[in-house]
Amino acid sequence: MKSVNPTSLPLVAISTLVNHAGGWVLLLILSFSQLQAYTTERVVLVIIDGLRYSEGLGDPEHLQVPRMAALAEQGALVTDFQNDGATYTSRAIPAIWCGAWTDINSFHDPACDGVENNTSELPTVFEYFRKHLDRPASDCVYTLKELCSWKASFDPDYGVDYWPQYHEAGHTDVEVWHETEGIIENLAPHFLMMYLADVDSRGHSGDWDNYLSAITTADSIVGVLWDVLQADTAYAGKTTMMVTNDHGRHDYNFSGHGDNCMGCRQIQFLAVGPDIHVGLQSGVPRTIPDITPTIGELLGFPTEDATGTSMMELIDPTSNIRDVSQTNSPENFKLSRLYPSPFNGELTIEYRLNTGSPGNLNIFNLQGNLVWNKELSASSTGLSKVKWQGINNSWEPLPSGIYIVQLSTSNLTTSTRVLLLK
Ligand SMILES: [Zn+2]
Ligand SMILES: [Zn+2]
Repeated sequence: MKSVNPTSLPLVAISTLVNHAGGWVLLLILSFSQLQAYTTERVVLVIIDGLRYSEGLGDPEHLQVPRMAALAEQGALVTDFQNDGATYTSRAIPAIWCGAWTDINSFHDPACDGVENNTSELPTVFEYFRKHLDRPASDCVYTLKELCSWKASFDPDYGVDYWPQYHEAGHTDVEVWHETEGIIENLAPHFLMMYLADVDSRGHSGDWDNYLSAITTADSIVGVLWDVLQADTAYAGKTTMMVTNDHGRHDYNFSGHGDNCMGCRQIQFLAVGPDIHVGLQSGVPRTIPDITPTIGELLGFPTEDATGTSMMELIDPTSNIRDVSQTNSPENFKLSRLYPSPFNGELTIEYRLNTGSPGNLNIFNLQGNLVWNKELSASSTGLSKVKWQGINNSWEPLPSGIYIVQLSTSNLTTSTRVLLLK
């Protein structure tokens, strides 16, 4: 480890902020003219059926949902998210897929031995994704328990050719999770939706403790899902996960739902990922039809029959600019390569700083605190390397998590994210 003088850190931190501002002003111009894409390449959507907000993230103690509460802090939570249509599953789940409250049709489903099944009138997020991005069904997977799932649309512009791959497995949320975990490992789809049904069915049973334990299980599944994604090179650092539900439960009786009471209407929505604001609690009112357009925004496809709008307030514009700076910066100033990713013992950072001025290599945690810094001399030519052992400036090991690696000079800034995984 090369010299880092702890007494110089406050000054370094201040100059970094100034550099940041200067760099961002410069790079903002690039972003509008040259780049549409986000860092997000994959989206995972989890639906927890019938979770009342007061037992979910609406509980200030988060007794049943500690993992989701922690994820909401790493990402963004919409504090006023409502089911603004029918507060029951057969209408609200298709509204999530379609980005609109859609009519439901029935048809004889050959995949279900010809029994009557439901299909949405409007095209779905699956169909938009597959058609516009030209993806195979194996890249668009919907996991749920064995119930002969409702199907996507027969819209003439979309339809069966663009339906997702349905994986129906087991009878409990845990079994659905095991199926999902295998799909992440074996298919690594760019769009994955997991439907967890147990909270609603346990709620209907009227057994309060059973209902709460189903919520705790769903919360653990969401937490482990995020851990698995962060440990998987196909997903780590480029996946946005969204967690929501279709409806709540009556204020006055947790065993039922379906009317306009606040308990039925208010639901939760959290998003976490590389483009999502960290620690945002957004008070902008949002509703179920806004989910599909937000997925389309992040993955880059239109959702033309959706009535909702993309939740742009959740997207951190600076995360986009960071990537612009990395991909479009001149050859003489860039973070070239960071490896291994994720890393455990030691991260090698390759960079080019051939601008004739000295620079800094700064590492921030997701709270924006500078945790490690190294001054770089002006004389660097060609490709240079720095090694970082995942420690702070006091040589203390840092916890697992995402860190932002920033290369800066007095007027240029570029950064990228790395995952420290112990
Ligand atoms: Zn129900
Ligand atoms: Zn109600």
